[in-house]
Amino acid sequence: FSTAAEPEDLITPPVQINYTQHLINGQFVDAASGKKFPTHDPRTGEVIAHVAEGDAEDINRAVAAARKAFDEGPWPRMTAYERSRILMRFADLVEKHSDEIAALETWNNGKPYEQAAKSELPLFVRLFYYYAGWADKIHGLTVPADGDYHVQTLHEPIGVAGQIIPWNFPLVMFAWKVGPALACGNTIVLKTAEQTPLTALYVAKLFHEAGLPPGVLNIVSGYGPTAGAALASHMDVDKLAFTGSTATGKIVLELSAKSNLKPVTLELGGKSPFIVCKDADVDKAVELAHFALFFNQGQCCCAGSRTFVHESIYDEFLEKAKARALRRVVGDPFKKGVEQGPQIDPEQFEKILRYIRSGIQSNATLECGGDRLGSKGYFIQPTVFSNVQDDMLIAQDEIFGPVQSILKFKDTDEVIRRANSTRYGLAAGVFTRSLDTANTLSRALRAGTVWVNCFDVFDAAIPFGGYKMSGIGREKGIYSLHNYLQVKAVVTPLKKAAW
Ligand code: NAD
Repeated sequence: FSTAAEPEDLITPPVQINYTQHLINGQFVDAASGKKFPTHDPRTGEVIAHVAEGDAEDINRAVAAARKAFDEGPWPRMTAYERSRILMRFADLVEKHSDEIAALETWNNGKPYEQAAKSELPLFVRLFYYYAGWADKIHGLTVPADGDYHVQTLHEPIGVAGQIIPWNFPLVMFAWKVGPALACGNTIVLKTAEQTPLTALYVAKLFHEAGLPPGVLNIVSGYGPTAGAALASHMDVDKLAFTGSTATGKIVLELSAKSNLKPVTLELGGKSPFIVCKDADVDKAVELAHFALFFNQGQCCCAGSRTFVHESIYDEFLEKAKARALRRVVGDPFKKGVEQGPQIDPEQFEKILRYIRSGIQSNATLECGGDRLGSKGYFIQPTVFSNVQDDMLIAQDEIFGPVQSILKFKDTDEVIRRANSTRYGLAAGVFTRSLDTANTLSRALRAGTVWVNCFDVFDAAIPFGGYKMSGIGREKGIYSLHNYLQVKAVVTPLKKAAW
């Protein structure tokens, strides 16, 4: 594994860390406790900044600001067009600063700079334009009820939204949560992941430059069991949106139940099948299956982490999949041409290496990789296992790393059964030249997204979410608006009431 690029190919857009405090009521402020925690560069493990560490008191302050901005502030009362203009101005500002923001994302997360700059920042900007477009198209219905009544529904913002996001796509997750909530007129307290607090603070500052009133978007940095749990159990938070592990999803759902029963949407883990049918073009299937698993260092909730290959093309696929993994360019994510950077932190790094050891112990065949890369930072060799059986841990658990598991299948009914025999149901990939096969599989697979002959298409308009233990609800598209609206029925007699 080596990078083709020489050091002079390093991409170094100017970037400095200006914002490390919480953003509450439009002001950057220290933690109530005065505490700070370190945030790191995953290329080296070195500390790059100390960030305000939020706990229950900071969440209280942020929720109070969001409450006031919702109950008394201009935001829910503005015309929808004015709100839409602010979302657009924000998107323009992010676009203007996108090189710098992408650099900060790479520095704090380790993802390739080219991926952050060319794919994730444009998705971010597009999503805010998409929801800016929705802001003035949200309205209720008139309802033809029996009797002499005029009945209408009002679609009202739900109130203060609490949002908890993970570290794998800090900016994209910010967009999926903040875009629809603001378009509907809500106010927000967002808790970033402790690993990646920096870019949300940067873009939230731009939001205020774009004209967002104070208190509408509050950002608290900090750890899950303290700041995150305080947000999930807060009595004055009207809705909670969470993305992260299934284990933590259960905790926040319980915290909601034990506090004020705020509705909860969850985007959780996955063990998504990627099914390569016997009629597939093997070279193209290898490339797409590789992308489906290895993209973003394998740190995707929807990663195609069970590669099912038809027995008739299995040997050829395997040889080519291994060759492709060996060609994968791993290295400094700021270098041109690098496809894979470091994993996020030592915990994830060790966990992935444990799963690799488990694969070896359970007699899957290690085709390539299987170890760390270099001695600094959290780099892992692109790893391919063949002869993977359904009951092995590496075929059941979310590894969240660059580890491809290849399984052999014989026929369509069998692969449907095996693909669905998981507690997850986030996504699935199907690779085939047959329309019949594509239709059969996409209807039979129990997953929130089925990508046919493509993968990881994240357009703002396409809903995303999970079946089974992969989550509750959908984000993006028109569906996400429903997460952030209350429906009020207003009933008025048409004639003078009898009483
Ligand atoms: P996590 O679920 O613990 O963290 C996600 C977010 O939840 C973070 O902001 C965290 O601070 C917060 N959180 C943690 N504990 C909390 C609590 N008790 N109450 C409220 N909020 C809490 O995920 P992790 O520990 O960073 O990663 C563990 C595994 O989760 C990964 O290996 C991966 O399998 C999975 N994961 C999935 C996604 C996804 O997009 N679905 C993202 C990140 C991690």
